[in-house]
Amino acid sequence: MGDIVLLISPNSLHFPILVLAIMSLGAIFSTANFLHTRQELLSQIQDSNPSLILTTSHLQDKLHNLISKPLVLIEHFISNLQPIPPNFDPLTPVNTTDTAALMYSSGTTGKSKAVVCSHANLIAMSCILRHVWGRRAGDEVYLCAVPMFHMFGFSVFVCGAPAVMATVVVMTRYSVEDVLMAVEEHRVTRLPAVPPMVIQLARAAGAARGYELGSLKEVVCSGAPLAREHMELFVDRYPGVTLSQCYGLTETCGPITLCDGVKGRFHASIGRLIPTMQAKIRDLRTGKALSHNKYGELLVRGPPLMKGYLNNQEATSLAIDEEGWLHTGDLCYIDMRGLIYVVDRIKELIKYKAYQVAPAELEEILQTHPDVHDVAVIPYPNEEAGEIPMACVVRKPGSTVEEDELISFMENKVAPYKKIRKAIFVDVIPRSPSGKILRRLIKAKVVQQQGTEISAR
Ligand code: ATP
Repeated sequence: MGDIVLLISPNSLHFPILVLAIMSLGAIFSTANFLHTRQELLSQIQDSNPSLILTTSHLQDKLHNLISKPLVLIEHFISNLQPIPPNFDPLTPVNTTDTAALMYSSGTTGKSKAVVCSHANLIAMSCILRHVWGRRAGDEVYLCAVPMFHMFGFSVFVCGAPAVMATVVVMTRYSVEDVLMAVEEHRVTRLPAVPPMVIQLARAAGAARGYELGSLKEVVCSGAPLAREHMELFVDRYPGVTLSQCYGLTETCGPITLCDGVKGRFHASIGRLIPTMQAKIRDLRTGKALSHNKYGELLVRGPPLMKGYLNNQEATSLAIDEEGWLHTGDLCYIDMRGLIYVVDRIKELIKYKAYQVAPAELEEILQTHPDVHDVAVIPYPNEEAGEIPMACVVRKPGSTVEEDELISFMENKVAPYKKIRKAIFVDVIPRSPSGKILRRLIKAKVVQQQGTEISAR
């Protein structure tokens, strides 16, 4: 493998330019969440062993004395750029199978994994996004409010937007007010977003009326499930904007499904497969392929699929089988029209006695309770049942709703084995930058606070 250059930076105009420069020199681009702690950054640096780190002066202190790798400040680098000499050819020949980028998965279900992406993977993603979104190119203005260090932002803004030749407005820091302002000021047409952004936009609809948002045609949501309640709210508040979903993994180098949203209507599906990809649903017990509308694990394969995990052949063989199918770890079904629906992550299913309970289903229902501002359902250890579903609820301001009321609210809405058996109240539900509920963090905190055993109702 070639030299790895690690870029640690918030979103900026320089980000995609530096990525393309690094790759065109034949080096390997890697990035990290700039909000990581020193310890988290150290662990990633030790794992990938970059030859050079590019960062901003604001982040310099965090990296100070952390490692002995050369550190170059982006500001310094940019201000010392020399005019390109005549006949300079910056392109180093590379093979399409060579490694282009090392992207880290979100670490939602365990330790974050280093995903090795080839040039062919990223070119495939660019071509696919151009094919899908290019039809609508021309006067497209994309707003980049999602982090470029995450695969969703990276694929859309480094691979997709340049291929579509869209104008990109880059936000260094996200806030819902800044999004509204940017849409008005730059006549933004498309906003790639993660679920918390969609929810915040929907809740800020009152403030949004003060802005001219007529240019905004589509909000494309990805990274984590978006509850029906929130989709309905968004569609109701922004009737002129199409809300669509897409789905992907770090391992697929970006979105592999896209949903053609319809203005004024929400669609619970993550859409159909993008061109060149194949999918099937695997029975969790037998491993056999399932027919339409049957729940099982989603398996996918196609050109944007990663080469594997860095220095981890065992994890790679577990993720990609001999026939090249990637096991997504997501419980899904595909309907007769080819539309795919995500039920939940298999690793996050709650094992209640002999049953499996999807926390996302319970969260979606609890979210419709008028006193619930935010909610996460987690498995709680129980001697008799193995695990029981427990709701961690953020109340709406002023609400005094209690555990018993939430438990009875769920009573007749789900099968008995799916009942919420305990509810606690918390200040905030921690989420990843892509909007995923960080159940591991909540679980650890709750188990620590509550002791390990409670009786099931
Ligand atoms: P790790 O593998 O380290 O636990 P991660 O899987 O969270 O991290 P990502 O690659 O960022 O890291 O996330 C991919 C996952 O995100 C998918 O497997 C799926 O569970 C979820 N996801 C992405 N888009 C959507 C979507 N539109 N709807 C529902 N879930 C989604």
